[in-house]
Amino acid sequence: MKVAFYNTKEYDSAAFGNGDPLEITYLQHTLDAGTAKLAAGHDAVCIFVNDRADAETLKVLHEQGIKTIALRCAGFNNVDLNAAKELGITVVRVPAYSPEAVAEFAVGTILTVVRKYHKAYNRVREGNFLLNGLVGFNLQGKTIGIIGTGKIGMRTGKILSRGFEAHVIAYDPYPDSAGAQEAGITYVDLKTLLSTADVISLHCPLLPSTKYILNKETLAQTKPGIVIVNTSRGALIETDALIQNLKSGHVSAVGLDVYEHEEEYFFKDGSGTIMHDDLFSRLLSFHNVFVSGHQAFLTKEALDAIAQTTVSNLDDISKG
Ligand code: NAD
Repeated sequence: MKVAFYNTKEYDSAAFGNGDPLEITYLQHTLDAGTAKLAAGHDAVCIFVNDRADAETLKVLHEQGIKTIALRCAGFNNVDLNAAKELGITVVRVPAYSPEAVAEFAVGTILTVVRKYHKAYNRVREGNFLLNGLVGFNLQGKTIGIIGTGKIGMRTGKILSRGFEAHVIAYDPYPDSAGAQEAGITYVDLKTLLSTADVISLHCPLLPSTKYILNKETLAQTKPGIVIVNTSRGALIETDALIQNLKSGHVSAVGLDVYEHEEEYFFKDGSGTIMHDDLFSRLLSFHNVFVSGHQAFLTKEALDAIAQTTVSNLDDISKG
């Protein structure tokens, strides 16, 4: 099977190699209606979260003879599934690759903001070893609230509960009682989580029901000095309300790997796109906000798992 591999990053070609038994053509371009013609002569395209497989693009892909789209990610909101179905294009994805990668990054982000690694790093590089302003707190015995206990949230809670001996509480409308017991997590309602947690870590998907789950009203219910970490999706937090709470000091520290509106900026092309966004610039003005660029998933193990599943998805299809 011949595969046009859009939006290639150096780490993709390292993980996929020659893609054996597939024949892969690596392309730097992201997929859209304008670049879809590059798929001519291939049977399938392999794309990422920020490639656009809308109805117009799918039509052009269909005209090039493309029969399969392989997403090398879990999310599929960038593909018009109805249009794909009408055109007879099969869509496959990688539903889970490494919850550990994201969970470990989330725990690292919690430690970073609680112990102020980012501030220390900048200071010590300037030769400044003064410790004022760097007092953190122990996670042991603190109450940590996990919102969303799927694969990633459960793993994050388990590391914090079993490893750090934190008191881990969680909210999920579909609780997994056996998993929570094994992980050392106690379910509570959202109100209780908001009012008792010292740290909140977000792990639910972005849905109409979860958009702005942390907003002006819910942030007001949190404890003064609350620490918030988001490695899930930017729009789970009403950024403007978060900024107001950082200004007032109600929120003491924040760690973000994801941002509201990031899809309009990040990964637009292979060269890396600068995010010009008012909310983002305002967030950066706070020294108690640690930022990373949607990289929580990015481990060798996760990339290898993505490559393995994608190749096997496409190989299965080529064998019928
Ligand atoms: P999952 O589907 O296994 O779990 C999601 C959980 O959220 C489920 O248990 C679900 O019941 C729960 N949920 C749904 N609505 C909720 C609500 N209103 N309140 C609380 N919980 C709710 O997903 P996962 O694999 O654990 O991934 C979680 C999220 O992590 C993804 O949706 C994605 O946004 C994010 N993610 C980020 C990265 C990254 O690199 N930063 C990588 C992968 C995934």
